[in-house]
This record gives sequence, C-alpha cells and structure tokens, in this order.
Amino acid sequence: MHEFELIRRFFQRPEAPEGPGVVLGIGDDCALLQPAQGQQLALSVDTLVADVHFPADADPAEIAQRALRVNLSDLAAMGASPRWFTLALTLPEADEHWLRAFGAGLFVAADAYGCTLVGGDTTAGPLSITVQVMGEVAPARALRRDGAGIGDYVLVTHCLGDGAGGLAAVRGELDLPEAELAYLRARYYRPEPRLAEAQRLLGLASAALDISDGLVADLGHICAASDVAAQIDVETLPLSPALLALDDRARVRDWALTGGDDYELCFTVPEARMPEVGLMIARGELNATVVGQLVTGTGVHCLLDGEPYTLEDTGYKHF
Ligand code: ADP
Ligand code: MG
Repeated sequence: MHEFELIRRFFQRPEAPEGPGVVLGIGDDCALLQPAQGQQLALSVDTLVADVHFPADADPAEIAQRALRVNLSDLAAMGASPRWFTLALTLPEADEHWLRAFGAGLFVAADAYGCTLVGGDTTAGPLSITVQVMGEVAPARALRRDGAGIGDYVLVTHCLGDGAGGLAAVRGELDLPEAELAYLRARYYRPEPRLAEAQRLLGLASAALDISDGLVADLGHICAASDVAAQIDVETLPLSPALLALDDRARVRDWALTGGDDYELCFTVPEARMPEVGLMIARGELNATVVGQLVTGTGVHCLLDGEPYTLEDTGYKHF
C-alpha cells in the first residue's frame, strides 16, 4: 500500500464534518487553522513507543485511544479546550487490519472530545505514535504550574493508582475478579482527560497539572515552579474499589504515589477559594479529594497517619 493511499483510506474522513477553525485540513503541506478570536493556542505533543508506553501487541484501537487521550489530558491540565491534532505514525508494516482498527479507535476518541485530525506524517520503522494536540484557552486563564502559594490545599481528581494497577492488570499480574480487571484495563487504555473538571477550576485553582509520572514526581514540578514544598497525607489518597479489593495496601499506596499513568489532575487551591471548591465537591459537580497542603521549603513529603512515609521510588524516568 502506498503511503498516500494509506493516509486517504485510514485517516482522511470526507464524511466527517470539519471541526471549527479548520481552514485547510489533511492533504497539503500544512494545515491552516484559525483559532477563535482572542483565544490563545495551547499546544502539546507526546510520543508513545511500543513496549515502552504500551505492549506492542495491544489492540490497535486501544493504543489509538490512549495516544489521543493522554495528549488531551495535557490540554485539560492547562484548562484548554481541544480543537485540533496531528498524528505522526511510524509503522513496521502497512497492515490493513491494524490500521483500520487503529483509525476506528482514534476517531472514536477524537469525536468524543471534539478534536479534528488536521495532518501528520507516516514513516516506516519500529512502531511509534506521536500525537500533537492543539487547544484554545482564554488569555491569562490557563492553569499553570507556577501559581501555587504556601497554605494552598493540594487536591486530585477522581482516584489514583489505577494507571499502575491497570498496567499490572494488562500484564496479567493481578488476582482479581474479571469486573475489577476490566475496570483497570480500561483505566489504562482509556484514561479520561479531565477536561470538564479543569473548566470548573479556571479562576479557582492556583496551579494544576496532570499526573503522568506519579503524584509525588508531578506535584514536585508544581513545588519547584511555585517555590513551595508539599505535604501529602497518604491515608487520604483516593483509591478505586478495584484497588481496594487488593490485599497489598502498601503496594497500592505506592502505585497511587509513584505509579504514574493516572492522567488525573493534581491542583492547588488557596484557602480563600476552598469554600467554593468544597461546595462543588459536596454537590457532586467536581470529583476531587484534598490530599495535602503546601508549606515552606522544597520537595514533596509524605506522611502516613502523621508519621514520615518512605517511598520505594519517586516516579518513572525515561533515562
Ligand atoms: P509532506 O511530504 O509535504 O510533508 P506528507 O507526504 O508527509 O507531506 O503528507 C501528506 C499529507 O498527509 C499532509 O497534509 C500530511 O499532514 C498528511 N498526513 C500524513 N500522514 C498522516 C497521518 N498519519 N495522519 C493524518 N494526516 C497525515
Ligand atoms: Mg510538503
């Protein structure tokens, strides 16, 4: 199959409506995009390498979903709304069955989050998927890492540890009922970009990011950028029923603290804004939990029932 035929068959969608702001999509040397009046462009790129970020023999539809969703999570972390994305694919071979499934999964996620594929690149080589997402955010509204202050509360959305637990489930390492295993596998392949949650936090959170390398490592970035330290109360970490069903609580806690791949938001809220955030949580409008507070100093410190808690490892490092 020729490269251009491959792009036309699997990635061009003449039937799909062009998203807003797409002046020119796939097919020319560049896409031409028009952000809405006065909006800033938020841009992020992530590469997923076979056998590093996903098992090479995984369901191609799941790989595609994951590739787009982890990128959308970066837009969520900034409080940006998804608009467009590009896809750079390196494939060992042009396998029609694989490409059809990959394209199907990709467009399910793209349509679910209103993000239009506007271009890309296709090359031969070891399987690797690069997605670049583009979104819009109002000027000065973005949720950055450098705005946190001493005394701010630290919160996370939904629950932590499912990313690492999900990988263990995908690898067949967990002894759990099938319903729990299915939940964890889905959390691994289809992490939910917390776009709606982020919109609620605009103007309330002082800093935010998404947790890709583990809470301790990622909260460490907020601390470094904002020149503060953090204290995490390990007993408050929100855990899913699937993880709570496992016997080894210490292992589950370490997944929640350092496992990574959760793609939940970690954000900070000044004490003065906590009543508003607390009300949203109480009303069920925001699924989030207070897990700690910012203090003077540097680094992220964990306490379990008031006693210092020692970590095995502090997050995934590529090199
Ligand atoms: P060029 O050689 O000018 O860089 P390409 O031959 O790489 O262009 O791509 C031709 C067109 O197809 C471009 O519009 C490009 O953005 C698009 N494209 C290439 N690969 C993909 C892909 N995997 N998904 C979506 N669009 C793609
Ligand atoms: Mg060109």
